[in-house]
Amino acid sequence: MSKQLYEIGEQPPLGEVPEKMHAWLVRADRFGKPTEAFQKEVVNTPSIADDEVLVYVMAAGINYNNVWAAMGIPVNVIGARNKNGEPEDFHIGGSDASGIVYKVGKDVTNVKVGDEVVMHCGTFDRNCSWVKKGGDPMYSPSFKIWGYETNYGSFAQFTRVQAQQCMPRPKHMNWEESAAYTLVAATAWRMLHGWGSSSIKKGDVALIWGGAGGLGSMAIQIAKAVGATSVAMVSGEDKFDYCMKLGAKGCINRNEFDHWGMLPHWKDNAGYAKWLKGVRAFGSKIWEVLGEKRAPNVVFEHPGETTIPSSIFVCETGGMVVVCAGTTGYNATVDLRYLWMRQKRLQGSHFANTEQSNQMNQLALSGQLDPCMSRAFTYDELPIAHQLMADNKHPHGNMSVLIGATQFGLGVSGKPAVTVVHPTLPKGDVHTTPHPYPMSEPLPSIEEAEALTIADDGTKVRDLMHHGIISCTPDDTIGAVAKIMVDKEIHAVVVMEQGKATGVVSQTDMVLARQGRTPDQARSMKASEIMTPGCATCDADMLLSDAVSLMTGRRMHRLVVTEKDKPVGVISMTDVVRKIIG
Ligand code: NAP
Repeated sequence: MSKQLYEIGEQPPLGEVPEKMHAWLVRADRFGKPTEAFQKEVVNTPSIADDEVLVYVMAAGINYNNVWAAMGIPVNVIGARNKNGEPEDFHIGGSDASGIVYKVGKDVTNVKVGDEVVMHCGTFDRNCSWVKKGGDPMYSPSFKIWGYETNYGSFAQFTRVQAQQCMPRPKHMNWEESAAYTLVAATAWRMLHGWGSSSIKKGDVALIWGGAGGLGSMAIQIAKAVGATSVAMVSGEDKFDYCMKLGAKGCINRNEFDHWGMLPHWKDNAGYAKWLKGVRAFGSKIWEVLGEKRAPNVVFEHPGETTIPSSIFVCETGGMVVVCAGTTGYNATVDLRYLWMRQKRLQGSHFANTEQSNQMNQLALSGQLDPCMSRAFTYDELPIAHQLMADNKHPHGNMSVLIGATQFGLGVSGKPAVTVVHPTLPKGDVHTTPHPYPMSEPLPSIEEAEALTIADDGTKVRDLMHHGIISCTPDDTIGAVAKIMVDKEIHAVVVMEQGKATGVVSQTDMVLARQGRTPDQARSMKASEIMTPGCATCDADMLLSDAVSLMTGRRMHRLVVTEKDKPVGVISMTDVVRKIIG
């Protein structure tokens, strides 16, 4: 061994692994702004297991995950690993890379020292019983994203990866381009090709959200390669040309429509009709772009909350909406009638398995997949690149940072079988929506390792409830019920039938009854027609916090309070607000 440590850009002789390496480290005591959290340090080069490979990193791809890792939210990735027995008190991120194999474990057969590789970020325990039985590693409880959930990612001179992560590097790309595409392209590949009979086929139509973004730009190219027609969604006409050069038949500017967002309540006739008008116009626009009346067989989704209702609506009968993120929010609303009557599929998808990543990579190797790299940074600029992402000021497309490569543009040593035009994004185009949370985070399951603690001050419903029930009969008119509400200054009236509470007419029920009707029509309706049936009740001795959860879970503002199963009063959100102000 000639040297213990090589400087950045000074490549050790092939196969020689120095004891130490330069890396960008995140430590828990500096979690926060990426420009402060990432610091250059020298650490021991990691050792590898029998199924692992040590790769000398030439360039690393930049993804949002490591913005979150740097901030330490929503998960302290270092603490999480320490709990699982890994001793390192630092995180080396980086979930995309291009580089050269420097060392292989004794069980490795797919790569050898000297091979130029790119790496996908899916890791799993090869001894996991599910995987051993032939199950998809993406469903293995041991699945982790390399360089986010695992340590020793690509923001260092050497990275430790599982052999199955390594794939041949497209030699017609330079180091930074080849480091840029794998995470997004493999994700897009599984979304489009991983779902059996619902997967994309030749002749299909695909609607691609965020066509100029990281995932969307890959999806357009993958759809083109299989012979499908795609329509790209973007936020401005300046991105049309980019998406069409990648292979989209046409584009739609989402800002031409304003019906996005959660579905109106299904009892809201007027709101629903307005939404329907908007979504129909959107569907017609898809027809116009296609030049024929065809609905998308596959909708490629990731904005989530604001777009899912429209995606489900415009999707072809028997088609699939496939979603890998909820960039605008997670509580998407679905008109279930469209799901069951038109037998559509809403499919979740997360990254990709080894086979799918390699299938995607064949497309890159053949030249049919442009990496859509928008900006590359020097080694020293790594924190700035993450800061731009954190501030939502980064350009669209995929970004990379040089690690071992000494200059931009190096590493090209071949020609692809197919040459595609390398499109460029409009100048000055930056993001408009910040990412909510990382693509991968631990979600609570049925079985929980840690006990949940629920803070509560012990207040009971009886401490705040309003005593006495103000009621009406099922046959009372809405006009009469409205008068009770106004006279008594209350927000809901309990519907009583033979001494039993059978429903509640709330202000919301009343306002929704008015939607799409004249005041006279609404007034003459009966309480039984608009009430929310099955009166939600709680016992006077229930904890107030449980009653609040019951109300919010059912989207209600009040509960009828019972004692020995007899209605005795009402507890409402207003009562809780009163308690807050004392
Ligand atoms: P990106 O490059 O930021 O692109 C996202 C695109 O979404 C933007 O280009 C934007 O395009 C569009 N968009 C933003 N706000 C929108 C809105 N309100 N309605 C409709 N479209 C909107 O991000 P990406 O790399 O493609 O990733 C997208 C999401 O997938 C992220 O949340 C990411 O974390 C997640 N992801 C998940 C996985 C996984 O395995 N589960 C893997 C990779 C990425 P316009 O403004 O032009 O419309």
